[in-house]
Amino acid sequence: MSADHPGSGEVDARPAAVRGRQVLLDGVLRPATLLLEAGRIGAVEGFDHPVAGGPVLEVPATSYVLPGVVDTHVHVNEPGRTHWEGFASATRAAHAGGVTTLVDMPLNALPPTTTLAALRTKQAAARGQLCVDVAFWGGAVPGTVAELEALHEAGVLGFKCFLSPSGVPEFPPLDPAGFAAAMSEVARLDSLMVVHAEDAAVLEAAPQRPSRAYADFLLSRPDEAETAAITRVLDVARVTGARVHVLHLSSARALDLLADARADGVPVSVETCPHYLCLEAGAIPDAAPQFKCCPPIRDAANREQLWQGLLDGVIDVVVSDHSPATAEEKGRGGGDLQQAWGGVSGLQVGFTAVAAEAAARGIGIDRVARWMSTGTADLVGLAHKGRIEAGADADLLVHDPTGRTPVRAEDLAHRNPITAYDGLTLAGRVTTTLVRGRATADPRWGRMLERTPT
Ligand SMILES: [Zn+2]
Repeated sequence: MSADHPGSGEVDARPAAVRGRQVLLDGVLRPATLLLEAGRIGAVEGFDHPVAGGPVLEVPATSYVLPGVVDTHVHVNEPGRTHWEGFASATRAAHAGGVTTLVDMPLNALPPTTTLAALRTKQAAARGQLCVDVAFWGGAVPGTVAELEALHEAGVLGFKCFLSPSGVPEFPPLDPAGFAAAMSEVARLDSLMVVHAEDAAVLEAAPQRPSRAYADFLLSRPDEAETAAITRVLDVARVTGARVHVLHLSSARALDLLADARADGVPVSVETCPHYLCLEAGAIPDAAPQFKCCPPIRDAANREQLWQGLLDGVIDVVVSDHSPATAEEKGRGGGDLQQAWGGVSGLQVGFTAVAAEAAARGIGIDRVARWMSTGTADLVGLAHKGRIEAGADADLLVHDPTGRTPVRAEDLAHRNPITAYDGLTLAGRVTTTLVRGRATADPRWGRMLERTPT
């Protein structure tokens, strides 16, 4: 047993305190002792503060104690497509990767979460299977504006919609009139609309030829699909006043549009994903559908502009967009990237990958925690998550920046052994994850969270 690398089998399940030299408090790494009390941080004390009443998790001086990741973009797929990913496997993977709260997307499970009854079905499926805390997005599809209020009252954190085909027939996109109507309802409810912003007409006009070449796939999902859709989203947000969030921004060409709109007072926020920040088109082999996602991973210059967008504050948060499928779905068409399922599987490795790339660029871990923990918790109004302070939930991750994470798809807790990160060795390692004070993964421990009424 090595004190420098405590594994989940070597730590106490419920420590009374966590003591470290580099604890992230108010955006600054400082020595501290966190006293844990009934799943919360009872008090933040000095490093040498005595601890009574239980074991202390002593964190090595080189490791960081950070708020657990709040991943607001995860496709769990249960019930209905549990063989793609289920609550048990997803939340076990989350725990292993430092994610202490995830928010489930409303599509790819059956039924999709577009009615109150469907939400109840999903919650029933999740019960007793959660190693981490889980909240839910609702979905806005054609003809369901009247359903949004009941979902809102039942505690969903907001609503997702598409402006182009989603990839599954049961979750169709909104047309312009439907989008405007849903946005008006979201404004009335003071909820949040989260949008897959690729424009259907631009996609239809782009070349969609069957091909195993990644370059051809990229041509089929041009930057203009994102800029056109984002332009429309911003226009409707301006008119309706609805809070709107742009999901998985891939094209850096939209950054100026977004910055200008925000400067004008449009209530817009933006996310990007680890795969857009850590991978680049030039290094993606052909006939490799594990890299296919929509919008696509673009070139290296675009990747660097996304990092700059984060540093400039135009992009607010980083989330996994974990959207796995079976080998059969990923391999559909024998490597034809038009037919393969689109989605990167990265829930377990997203934080580690972003922390490694940030470190390589000289960007502090405090920024990473803001983008992946505090910022995402704030986005969805989970005020007791994503921060280390007295009264907050004791959701913590310990990250050893001197460690290494070799990624082998078959070793991950994801349901299917397919990931764009397979074969990489990432710098740094998540060594411990605490969910409301508990340091070992337990499928009876996670809670289902609801929107905090304002
Ligand atoms: Zn998604």
